[in-house]
Amino acid sequence: MTAKTDLTGTVALVTGATGGIGRATVGALTEAGAQVIASDIGVNAQVDGAAMYAPLDVTSEAAWADVIGRIEREFGRLDILVNNAGISVTNSVAATSLSEFRKCFAINVEGVFLGTRAAQPLLARGGEGREGGSSIINLSSVGGLRGAAMMSTYCASKGAVKLFSKSAALEFAALKLPIRVNSVHPGGIETDMMDTIFARYVDEGLFPDMDAARAAVSAGHAVGRMGRPAEIAEGIAFLASPAASFMTGSELVIDGGMTAR
Ligand code: NAP
Repeated sequence: MTAKTDLTGTVALVTGATGGIGRATVGALTEAGAQVIASDIGVNAQVDGAAMYAPLDVTSEAAWADVIGRIEREFGRLDILVNNAGISVTNSVAATSLSEFRKCFAINVEGVFLGTRAAQPLLARGGEGREGGSSIINLSSVGGLRGAAMMSTYCASKGAVKLFSKSAALEFAALKLPIRVNSVHPGGIETDMMDTIFARYVDEGLFPDMDAARAAVSAGHAVGRMGRPAEIAEGIAFLASPAASFMTGSELVIDGGMTAR
């Protein structure tokens, strides 16, 4: 850690924090010195390193108001928001129900909007006078940069996250609010989400078994393997820090060379 990546004195909120990338992000931000509030949809959870756990369904306006209010009362500030909670949908357009499509957008897109809106005043205060200001980091995906068969709903949601992030970044800069907003675009990362996707590929007959699906996805990365959650968390911690003070409205692609092809 350099002085520029030190997060001592900051307070961070991570959504979806009991999942693969979320847990690793709590770890990376904590290691950099932040006090981290871990949140997820479950009522109770243990997340290593977290200063507090707060239940938060990101689709609920009321839950966002509660959690932000609690952070203000108990920590007095907020400097970093990681909108990480998300779900995947692996299905053909023809077989996707409207409720499945809407659920994906409610969590992946409305969740990011609600979180950004709810946290903005506290983040604006937290960023005053701090080098690089406050930081919102939104989890998009390589699926937000290009399409993928059987992933139209998911890719549409992640494309929306990318452009929401850029637009919020431009707006906050124009309003002179000290909040940077960036999106992160992971390739295939070893988490429960990818196992769910592999299982759906097998269900749909695209691959004979999970191992074959995993091998094909691994080969889709230039480096020939999937990524580890910590490899995404390090990028998130960088974006949260003063080392990224000139980054806003940008896309941090961490994909083992997948989209370079
Ligand atoms: P994960 O292990 O499935 O974690 C996602 C977490 O979000 C889970 O703990 C999940 O809880 C939670 N969640 C679901 N609905 C929620 C809600 N309404 N409110 C709050 N939390 C909710 O997935 P991950 O791989 O770590 O993914 C994290 C983020 O990275 C997602 O936005 C994902 O789209 C993105 N991403 C992942 C990959 C990858 O390859 N893994 C690639 C690109 C982008 P439950 O388990 O209880 O549902």
